[in-house]
Amino acid sequence: MLGLMLQRAMIRLNNRVTRWRRVKVAPGRVLLLLAHCLQSSACGRNLTREGGDGCARCGKCPVDALLGVRDRTGVLFHVVGGGRQALARVRDDDVDAVVAVACERELIQGIFGAFPKPILAIGNTRAQGDCHDTLTDVAEVEAAVRELIRT
Ligand code: SF4
Repeated sequence: MLGLMLQRAMIRLNNRVTRWRRVKVAPGRVLLLLAHCLQSSACGRNLTREGGDGCARCGKCPVDALLGVRDRTGVLFHVVGGGRQALARVRDDDVDAVVAVACERELIQGIFGAFPKPILAIGNTRAQGDCHDTLTDVAEVEAAVRELIRT
């Protein structure tokens, strides 16, 4: 498996190429795609089945604030349980561009699997360890979404 530093370098390169392409699409064709590990492990809501509407917006995990990004920008929103689900959603016909938040390993898989669709990939932070209760910089996510949408 690629080392973390190499994975991060590949993600930076991908994001640079995506920005270089100057992609601008309608908000409704940009997908904000989240790994389910951003959801609080104490939360019983099934977001991978019910989507953003399954969240009670209690503010105890980043999903609430990320739904705020969706609401302010009008993009598509999807929470996935793993790489295979993510690839299937990214390849759907209603998606022209993607902002993805996940661990580096899944982001790399997604970047290759979704090619040539443009992806801005944002790594999560894992203060509690891998795969649960991860965090992300919501302002960075919103900025990435706004880079891709045509206003
Ligand atoms: S914001 Fe609250 S309800 Fe929504 S996923 Fe997080 S913990 Fe669950």
